[in-house]
Amino acid sequence: MRSELPVEGWPRDAIFRRMRELSAGDVDWRRGRTPLYVFKATDEVAAIGRDAFVEFFTENGLGGRRAFHGLKQMEDDVVAMGLSLLRAPPDAAGYFTTGGSESIVTALKTCRDFARHQRGHATLRGNVVLPQSAHPAFTKAAQLMDLELRRVPLSPRFRADVSAMAAAIDAETIALVGSAPSFPYGTIDPIAELSDLALARGLWLHVDACVGGYLAPFVARAGFPVPAFDFSLPGVTSMSADLHKFGFCPKPASTVFYRSAAHAAFQPFTMEDWPSGRFTTATIAGTRPGGAVAGAWAVLHALGEAGYVDVARRIMGLVGDYRRGIEAIGLTVVADPELSILCFTAADVDMLKVAERMGARGWLPGVVREPKSMHLMLSLLHEPALPDYLRDLRECVGEVRAGAVEGAGVSVKY
Ligand SMILES: *Cc1c(COP(=O)(O)O)cnc(C)c1O
Repeated sequence: MRSELPVEGWPRDAIFRRMRELSAGDVDWRRGRTPLYVFKATDEVAAIGRDAFVEFFTENGLGGRRAFHGLKQMEDDVVAMGLSLLRAPPDAAGYFTTGGSESIVTALKTCRDFARHQRGHATLRGNVVLPQSAHPAFTKAAQLMDLELRRVPLSPRFRADVSAMAAAIDAETIALVGSAPSFPYGTIDPIAELSDLALARGLWLHVDACVGGYLAPFVARAGFPVPAFDFSLPGVTSMSADLHKFGFCPKPASTVFYRSAAHAAFQPFTMEDWPSGRFTTATIAGTRPGGAVAGAWAVLHALGEAGYVDVARRIMGLVGDYRRGIEAIGLTVVADPELSILCFTAADVDMLKVAERMGARGWLPGVVREPKSMHLMLSLLHEPALPDYLRDLRECVGEVRAGAVEGAGVSVKY
């Protein structure tokens, strides 16, 4: 696969025309046809985030400390607001990252270095005990750092099986993980029990709130029941929470938090003896988009507490509408999810075949392998799509029930 640069630069119009042609066949996210990847609160808030991003388009997060003091202040403000939201103690600390994956990789790196220091064992390999449903970013982190991962099957409620996780702990275990919620099922793991287990065994507990971190606190304030999942549980050591999911901030933006500055101190990287001088970064990335920091700061201020609570209430209403519509077709929502993810299945219908039919109608089908299900992660992007989605879902389920469908069903690939 080789291709030359154009010999002469293209005019601006030609460039944009071609880019639009290239994406003309994309899944129509603007009309809510993607069950993940894109998140929306309101058009107004999206525009503020975009404008802030563009205003700080050129600044580099890497230079926050030395050159771009405003950006550094915005970053500190965003982290401080996240810490309050997740009820972190006064001595807690955190970092702005480029996404959930980076938050998770850095949390496990920090945990490993903390364990090596605490145990006086500089080459300790360490293992991490986590539920099967935890995000692949944990496996990526383990591969990068040669950690052993012990993925444990879920309980029948599609949540972490705490006693099975306890049984998987040994002397080399450095961390436990729970999700709030897990991506596949949308279920919040029993974090309170994991917190007790972590305290009893003297282990680090990371809560992956990439999906729920900027949603669950507001869902709770809107009056919906949400089990405890944050730093109010004394065994929670670190958390990941994505601004670019239900924080509704421009990508790439996430946060990683630690119970104390002493834990957080194991995250930054420093090289002292470089010819250009001391080099330090808190995260994996060096150069980072200033726009993402400004965009997050702007969106948090644009929505405010009241705005997020209002959006959370509307999302939960929408989830209820989708759920009732899905159940009216005779499908079953798996595991009573607490927030905005619905995974739904049926005993008598192959949902992967239904997903294939939905794909043919222009919906990007989200699917889960076990049990064979379809999957939605809902935000206000999906509000206008509700009637069309339910009509097409009903028809596709009907086609599959009638046996009028060829093919093996969609495969599960992200
Ligand atoms: C999205 C997600 C991640 C990873 O976040 P990215 O921003 O895509 O890197 C981690 N955990 C959960 C539960 C997620 O849904």
